Amino acid sequence: MTDVLPSLIAGEWLTGSGEGTLVSDAVTGDPVTRVSADGLDLSRAVEHARGVGGPALRELDFHERAALVKAMARALSDRKQELYDLSAQAGCTRSDAKVDVDGGFGTAMVFASMATKGLPQSRLVVEGDVEQLGREGTFVGQHVLTSRRGVAVQINAFNFPVWGLLEKLAPALIAGVPTIVKPATPTAYIAEHAVRIIQEADVLPAGALQLISGSIPGLMDLLDGQDSVGFTGSAATAAKLRGHDAVTNRSLRFTAEADSLNCSVLGPDAVPGTPEFDYFVQALVTEMTVKAGQKCTAIRRAFVPRDQLGDVSDAVSARLSEVVVGAPGADGVTMGALVGLDQREDVRRAVALLSAETELVFGDPASVDVVGADSGTGAFMSPILLRSADGAAQAPHDVEAFGPVSTLIGFDGVDDLVDQIARGHGSLAGSLVTHDGDFARRVISETAAFHGRMLILDREDADESTGHGTPMPQLIHGGPGRAGGGEEEGGLRAVHHHLQRTALQAGPDMLKAILDE
Ligand code: NAP
Repeated sequence: MTDVLPSLIAGEWLTGSGEGTLVSDAVTGDPVTRVSADGLDLSRAVEHARGVGGPALRELDFHERAALVKAMARALSDRKQELYDLSAQAGCTRSDAKVDVDGGFGTAMVFASMATKGLPQSRLVVEGDVEQLGREGTFVGQHVLTSRRGVAVQINAFNFPVWGLLEKLAPALIAGVPTIVKPATPTAYIAEHAVRIIQEADVLPAGALQLISGSIPGLMDLLDGQDSVGFTGSAATAAKLRGHDAVTNRSLRFTAEADSLNCSVLGPDAVPGTPEFDYFVQALVTEMTVKAGQKCTAIRRAFVPRDQLGDVSDAVSARLSEVVVGAPGADGVTMGALVGLDQREDVRRAVALLSAETELVFGDPASVDVVGADSGTGAFMSPILLRSADGAAQAPHDVEAFGPVSTLIGFDGVDDLVDQIARGHGSLAGSLVTHDGDFARRVISETAAFHGRMLILDREDADESTGHGTPMPQLIHGGPGRAGGGEEEGGLRAVHHHLQRTALQAGPDMLKAILDE
């Protein structure tokens, strides 16, 4: 029988009891691992983080912790091939794997650099100016930020087992807060290997990083107001966790990055023959096919001026017909598999809901030609392009098909566009593809409040643009409403999230004595 995937608790690799959940290779269907945390003592992990990891990290200053993060990122970079190989079992092509793996250690590196440049070589951040609170100046106020005393629990989604881990871990470690990682079951073996590489590199103090492979019933019961949970996953799970007593009664710091019906908008100026028309088509195809569309930021709703729907449908379909679906690494393959057969069933169900109100422009959700693999055993799926010509369909604003699926939606003028964007109830990322500053200004002013990040793509920035779907460590990742209402990344804001802001009130000499480390 396939082995159960270990967890790292209090410095020991331990395996849960029972059969666990079988995880199969996305391409071949062969068993990869079993995931179970049954019987593991989760309270030991929490105590170890609080009692050993926290104190060890708090001994160090921000710069020393940033150096640890850099060393950790280097260790992963040195062994990235191992992570690429495992990612292929989850259906990822080499370029998909790079988005996750290189994107992960690159993000950690950027956080380390930002911390070295932007945080003091001390264990406390002095924020803002001294506020004079009395007439004579003998009584003043000052905000300071110090490391919270708890543990950061991170619960990740399956689609970015390495990037998701590192974009949360790096800021927590820099802030001096130990972390317990709980990866999603379908790709837990990739996260486990990343944690193993970090552990073998022996760069972090004991207790700074632990891993639970499997479900975590009861863990939230152990957490309180000094702890935090950073969740990434579906809106349904986010809602369940947000309602937990630890959040509602003990003020556990909880943030969620949930699902999102992100949009891209083609400007009315971007007619065929303009560079912006081509950027729009290219970006949509990229977002549909990278990681087989299993990206929280992927374009689900592609808004197009109604009179351009025909041209856009033809151009996107032509590009999609060049996509080669198949086994990662096989000749010519440009799109891999979904993470597993269950995920493909979920996507097919969502496509059925969308199709009830839209027309199918490209692809067949039930079948696809596959290179280098058996379409019967692998979780392959064709890219699916749908269309709601009159913009009347509601499903594209409600239903997330977490796969290579997008809907073209017609709009008539800015007011109609703004109304339709708002029907998504909040998104992680939106893009406007236009060279018309007036159009961009009107749309941004009306719709920025529904987005965590917005890209305006045109001939000026296209060469250097990192694209619609790529969160940047320097910028906020997260979004309002349906997107979870959380914020991650965003430069040093991500580190501040793990620090407590305290207003100190004292005389100036006393304040100086306290702040002189
Ligand atoms: P999910 O089913 O909600 O699972 C997310 C994580 O929560 C997994 O680690 C899962 O563990 C865990 N979990 C489930 N129930 C739990 C509970 N009762 N207590 C504690 N943890 C629990 O989502 P998913 O299928 O992995 O990911 C796909 C979704 O994530 C999509 O909707 C996508 O849009 C969203 N997503 C959002 C972002 C973002 O940044 N906003 C990024 C990526 C994905 P198990 O796997 O062990 O059940």
